[in-house]
Amino acid sequence: TVTTSPRRITILGSTGSIGTNTLDVVAQLGGSANFEIMALTGNGNIELLASQAIAARAKLAVTADESQYIALKDALSSHGIDVAAGTSGLQEAASLEADWVMAAIAGTAGLQPTLTAAARGADIALANKECLVSAGDLFLDTVKQGGGKLIPVDSEHSAIFQCLDESHRDTLERIVLTASGGPFRTFSRAQMADVSVQTARAHPNWSMGLKVSIGSASMFNKALEMIEAKYLFDVRPEQIEVIVHPQSIIHSMVGYTDGSVIAQLGVPDMRTAIGYALTYPKRSPLNVDRLDFTKLARLDFEAPDESRFPAIRLARTALERGGLQGAVLNAADEAAFEAFVDEKIRFLTMADIVEEVMDTLSGLTPATSIADVFAADAEARNLAHRLIKAKTRAA
Ligand code: NAD
Ligand code: MG
Repeated sequence: TVTTSPRRITILGSTGSIGTNTLDVVAQLGGSANFEIMALTGNGNIELLASQAIAARAKLAVTADESQYIALKDALSSHGIDVAAGTSGLQEAASLEADWVMAAIAGTAGLQPTLTAAARGADIALANKECLVSAGDLFLDTVKQGGGKLIPVDSEHSAIFQCLDESHRDTLERIVLTASGGPFRTFSRAQMADVSVQTARAHPNWSMGLKVSIGSASMFNKALEMIEAKYLFDVRPEQIEVIVHPQSIIHSMVGYTDGSVIAQLGVPDMRTAIGYALTYPKRSPLNVDRLDFTKLARLDFEAPDESRFPAIRLARTALERGGLQGAVLNAADEAAFEAFVDEKIRFLTMADIVEEVMDTLSGLTPATSIADVFAADAEARNLAHRLIKAKTRAA
């Protein structure tokens, strides 16, 4: 028998929804017999991070929250696990020699460590879509120069990745991103005006982190995914379609110039996409629910309503304008999301803020370095915060 050395992996954001699912997949695929866990990172959830690090016998555990350093150190000192904190700690985690890195930090906080891992040539399993939305071609260039693979984890992009036959690339016509429509799919704008954080975060089909759940309700998550798709699959904006499909059974589709459409289906469970990213180009057996077609009553489809969900229109605008508009949309959306969760602004105000920030910053010179991306991100965030303050006062 041929013995291969275990694959060395790091999970950036191991305590989150994608992170815990990744550890579950790793355990299902043999755990420490097949994988060596280099680094795990979290933020505030020290107890969970420490127990994950102990169970996985990780080399390094990192909390992004510097004030939690001592607590993490205390929890792990007797286990021979190195501990670090803050942005330098995240850098340390990304720099460890892992072959495969799951990028599952939520938001722009994940950009720098993911770039670091990509630059040294790790294969990147990308859940943290914000990396591509804000840094676009510069992110792709970093992956290319590093020499590792970039494998999508977002369910829609994993679906497209699984359906897109590169040997038919010349006859690729369109990609069709499915969207559940979220909890407010049938709401009028008037009904959406007063929705609470609790109702907005309650996704009908997927169990996910807070940011992506709120983004599903506003469809800003789909907006980010449209931009993510442009970079991942090198398609023109007009080749990217969005269709609302409330059952979330078809995860996305690819259409060719002969009229053929190839779809990927499954129950809504991120572990299938995570497993595919972990063992690509192979598939691995996973204990997830199977689709039972006899119980699937129906699959529905409807066009997204851009007057109720302006995020889709704003993504098209960002795609048309190009340059730093993705970074600006992403940063403004993150600031608006935080303000909504803190109950400083109302649900529909999120899109107003993003649109105003995008319009104000539409003249930025396209980025030539990652520093330009961070500068645009900061400028968009500052402007969003000023608008949020003004709107909070006005309310
Ligand atoms: P989550 O909120 O459940 O977890 C986020 C992780 O990032 C946690 O480990 C947290 O400790 C860490 N984190 C938070 N703030 C941080 C900071 N400032 N610095 C460093 N680390 C920080 O999020 P999630 O739902 O797992 O999503 C992670 C990423 O995957 C997001 O980009 C999201 O859009 C994407 N994604 C998630 C799903 C899903 O089903 N959850 C599906 C598709 C894509
Ligand atoms: Mg998705």
